[in-house]
Amino acid sequence: MMMDPFADIETSQSENATGNSSNSTSAGTSSSAASTPSRYENQKRRDWNTFGQYLKNHRPPLALSRCSGAHVLEFLRYLDQFGKTKVHTPICPFYGHPNPPAPCPCPLRQAWGSLDALIGRLRAAYEENGGRPEANPFGARAVRLYLREVRDLQSKARGISYEKKKRKRPSQQHLSAAAGAGAGSAAPAASVLDAIKAGVVL
Ligand SMILES: [Zn+2]
Repeated sequence: MMMDPFADIETSQSENATGNSSNSTSAGTSSSAASTPSRYENQKRRDWNTFGQYLKNHRPPLALSRCSGAHVLEFLRYLDQFGKTKVHTPICPFYGHPNPPAPCPCPLRQAWGSLDALIGRLRAAYEENGGRPEANPFGARAVRLYLREVRDLQSKARGISYEKKKRKRPSQQHLSAAAGAGAGSAAPAASVLDAIKAGVVL
């Protein structure tokens, strides 16, 4: 069986940093390693094949030419069963916690970032495979709206802002604050933790 064709983008990005291979083809590897051309192209081809497979197994059978935004949404929901991102329900005590301290029974989903990137690749692949842009189901309004909804929902459930990927992860902020860097940029939660550790509070 093909395992997990849609691994969580967020985790694979953070793991990229450890790569640092002596691959001669990469000219000036930038920080956005996930978008290295060959890697992107490979991923795009895999995604396209997976979608083709999905269409083939669809009941009733579904031709690409008849594929609509609604079918794309169906596909995205189908992918959630392979997701690895914990999305807390509003009744979970960890709702809104980026780093829950304990396990919980909330469902695993595809992370919004994974879906968003996937749709981008499939949208490009569709046109590269002869599809007309105006008929591109991956560019459908319903798909855009769905992605936005998923983003808002996951952002609230996971306590993560999707504004920009650039900002430091909370754990790093906490570490540097704990190291006594003296910077005034520590998040409130971190400074309280610091104070507790230093025995100032209570
Ligand atoms: Zn939960």
